[in-house]
Amino acid sequence: MTLPIYVQGAWYLGALLFIFGLKGMGSPASARKGIVIAGYGMLLAIAATFLIPGLQNLALMALALVVGGAVAWISGKKVKMTDMPQMVAIYNGMGGGAAAAIAAIEFAKGDAHSVVTTILAVLGALIGAVSFTGSCVAWAKLQGVLKKAHRLPAQNAVNVVLALVAVGLGAAMVVLAPAQPELIFGFFAIALVLGLIVTLPIGGADMPVVISLFNAFTGLAVGFEGYVLGNPALIIAGIVVGAAGTLLTQLMAKAMNRPLSNILFTPMVASGPGEAISGSMKEVGAIDAAAMMRYASKVIIVPGYGMAVAHAQHKVWEMTALLEEAGVEVKFAIHPVAGRMPGHMNVLLAEAGVPYDKIFDLEEINGEFGQADVALIIGANDVVNPTARTDKSSPIYGMPILNADMAQNVIVIKRGKGTGYSGVENALFYTDNCRMLYGDAQPMAGEIIQQLKAMG
Ligand code: NDP
Repeated sequence: MTLPIYVQGAWYLGALLFIFGLKGMGSPASARKGIVIAGYGMLLAIAATFLIPGLQNLALMALALVVGGAVAWISGKKVKMTDMPQMVAIYNGMGGGAAAAIAAIEFAKGDAHSVVTTILAVLGALIGAVSFTGSCVAWAKLQGVLKKAHRLPAQNAVNVVLALVAVGLGAAMVVLAPAQPELIFGFFAIALVLGLIVTLPIGGADMPVVISLFNAFTGLAVGFEGYVLGNPALIIAGIVVGAAGTLLTQLMAKAMNRPLSNILFTPMVASGPGEAISGSMKEVGAIDAAAMMRYASKVIIVPGYGMAVAHAQHKVWEMTALLEEAGVEVKFAIHPVAGRMPGHMNVLLAEAGVPYDKIFDLEEINGEFGQADVALIIGANDVVNPTARTDKSSPIYGMPILNADMAQNVIVIKRGKGTGYSGVENALFYTDNCRMLYGDAQPMAGEIIQQLKAMG
């Protein structure tokens, strides 16, 4: 069926808005505007769909929109910043599931399609179904519903066999098109199980990388099903999401210095006993920590996962403002994988009102630690662990780190002797120039603020 020009035109316009929106999301300053522009694109594409002549099931479509829209609106308003990764996971899973469902309906209708269209429908269905169940597992792990990683004996062999069976059934669906219902059911069942089996053994903390990969999968699946439906908005949006997800996955894997295959198929463990660490951890009180920073010329703050957990970003910004009033130069150093999702620290600092020109990436700031009087580490651990440079047996060996150890003095705010996400002991905490300020990041930042105010 040839669609009216106004529907096609609106879909293209919607797709253009997605692209402009994504461009806006490239910088924290324009990200909010970017997401609104992409939202308008989505609205336009959906509205245009309702204008297709002879469309059936209008009431069901409207009901789906109301239910989906309401759930997304309420959960979007209520979600905490630290719960964002699992929300992205579940929304992403819904996208993959929707793409697989479109394919399932097309197969069930049994309409004649060209071989290319059928191949794309099968590929989209496979990738979408894997992304759906995989993302559900990712959500369950990050939400704490699934607490353990479940590894089967010969896990990787099971993955390969299941993937081969799914591809074989998919190929049969192309050759035998229109496929029998049993074949369609078998194919979808295997694809859904594959998503579960591949994701279950992966540790909760690796999930953000996995979610980003599934995000790329969902984009591809949506793009393929867009081709099947002849919908340019779906094709363009799918390809944009697929490309962005692929790049993000690569960037995260590179920043952690772990090949993607290692993240997906190998649990994160040390390959040896690790370098012996000498020295001892030395404690400092809030009053001394405040004085060290108040009388410094330059302070570099390194936020990490602990700052996110403690919701300490507002207090940290208040503390920064007081230091700046006292004439101290303060900069924020952000590691690309600090926290538990890409851009985690940038989002939190932006939320607290920290100006973007005070926030620096690893490459920009690493040369400046040598001139800093104090490096203040707030709830960060792995991203400042110097053993990543030297200990070949360490699971974080080779990960580029922030050179906080090169500052004159290092102050670390953390609750106790807990390790970071990698489980590796941090040699920095034992060095002569490092002092530990034990406590939850929020009250500790609050205490420093009190002391700075008292110093005038
Ligand atoms: P880490 O997970 O290495 O360390 C966080 C530290 O914060 C812990 O040592 C903990 O110590 C402390 N902490 C926890 N809660 C609090 C609190 N309430 N107040 C104060 N301190 C607290 O965090 P980093 O940000 O340094 O590193 C991120 C890690 O996550 C990297 O290894 C990275 O590879 C990984 N990762 C990051 C992803 C991303 O996209 N950003 C994705 C996947 C993994 P204590 O218990 O003693 O308080």
